[in-house]
Order: sequence, then C-alpha cells, then structure tokens
Amino acid sequence: MTGPAPVAPARPRTDCDVLREIPMPPYVTVEDVQFAVRAVVVHAPRAWSGGTICRNDASPHPCRLHVWGRRVLTLRGLPSTEIDALVERGDPAADPRPYRPGA
Ligand SMILES: [Zn+2]
Repeated sequence: MTGPAPVAPARPRTDCDVLREIPMPPYVTVEDVQFAVRAVVVHAPRAWSGGTICRNDASPHPCRLHVWGRRVLTLRGLPSTEIDALVERGDPAADPRPYRPGA
C-alpha cells in the first residue's frame, strides 16, 4: 500500500533556460516594450571576479533575455545609449520614451 513516491527528476532551471528561444514579435507593441525594459533591467550586468555576469541568473552577460530586450528596444527606435541609461537607472517599470518632467 505504501511505496516509495516517484521522484521527479531534479531540473535546475533559470528564466533564461525556460525561454531558450525567444521569438521576436512581428511588430513591437507597448507590452513588448514594457517586457523588454524589465528584461534589460532585471538581467543587468554585474561585475564578477571572472568577468561580467547576469545579475539575475549568473550566466555570462549579456544573457538571452538581456539580448532580446535590447533587440526589442532597438526595434522600437531606442538608441543604445538610451538603453544603457535604462539599465543604469534600474527601474523595471520605466517608460522608455524620453521623459520630460514638468512638460
Ligand atoms: Zn539573465
């Protein structure tokens, strides 16, 4: 009646493993942009003794999600300096359009 429970194979996974192949959207929607901002901010580079790694999953930077996010934002017409600024600001909910306070 009681037997050993079947053991599920342990599978270490990270965000980046799950999304092995990330398709590019045919056109970039507002949602894609928001997701891309979150991707580049959450998967920001981190200096490590062995080099630069992803802050989120410790794979070599830039990881797949960071590359995907950057590609989407580039498609959206954002210059790489703007993307760098977003990563540096570290706000995953940032609006990538130029923000003019008081406008
Ligand atoms: Zn990552």
